[in-house]
Amino acid sequence: MTQIAKMEIAKAQTMAMAAEEMVTNTGTAEGEKFREKVLALAGSEVITCIQCGTCSASCPTAHLMDTPIRRLVKLVLEGEKEEALSSRSIWLCTSCLLCTVRCPRNIRPMAVVAALKTVYEEVGMRCIDSVFEEIFARQIRDYGRISELLLSAEYMIRSPGSAAQIMAFGAELVPKGKIEIGFEAARGERIEGTEEMRRIFEVLGDEGEAEPAQAGGAEMAEAAKKAAESEDETGGPI
Ligand code: SF4
Ligand code: SF4
Repeated sequence: MTQIAKMEIAKAQTMAMAAEEMVTNTGTAEGEKFREKVLALAGSEVITCIQCGTCSASCPTAHLMDTPIRRLVKLVLEGEKEEALSSRSIWLCTSCLLCTVRCPRNIRPMAVVAALKTVYEEVGMRCIDSVFEEIFARQIRDYGRISELLLSAEYMIRSPGSAAQIMAFGAELVPKGKIEIGFEAARGERIEGTEEMRRIFEVLGDEGEAEPAQAGGAEMAEAAKKAAESEDETGGPI
């Protein structure tokens, strides 16, 4: 047997031991259930994670995350449901796939993040990040594009604590023409092929709700209208 073959066998044994150690650490029944659910969604190969950290080192938003992607994988394997679901990192993933293409074990860390989002919503949890993502995804599904005006208005209504930050962004971006403002934008015009877009969401398991009803459509329209009027009068923020 060649030296390289021996090294490969030793490496495989180390990985198997690491995976086994994680499997035995799951603890409670709830933790085990959580782990199995995420593995079913993200792929059973996740148990072969060797905690090398390549995913975290590759992640362009790692510096913003409270839990590195490597640790998220570990938390899943250990059945640490509460800690994994309460991590803000799952809402900061941009789905760039760098972690996935670089993982030496052919694990898809991004799929772990997606699975955590699914479990998060299934257990009825909500945070400002999940609300934002929900509004963003719904606009893409229904219009094929984003209306910054509608998105900002609905987000401010559903997450009032974010208003100051959104106004600050608006003050900076509107004068530069980076945010389209006005009733055309507030109408949420659809792109061609919206039906195809909707079908993509259906294939991905998100059939969604009919648009504005779910988020207080009347309030949202009113907020958008006020924002546009404010811009007309002052040329200032939304
Ligand atoms: S790159 Fe792959 S093996 Fe390494 S820590 Fe991340 S998921 Fe685990
Ligand atoms: S897919 Fe998400 S977790 Fe993976 S590298 Fe990109 S941002 Fe980071």
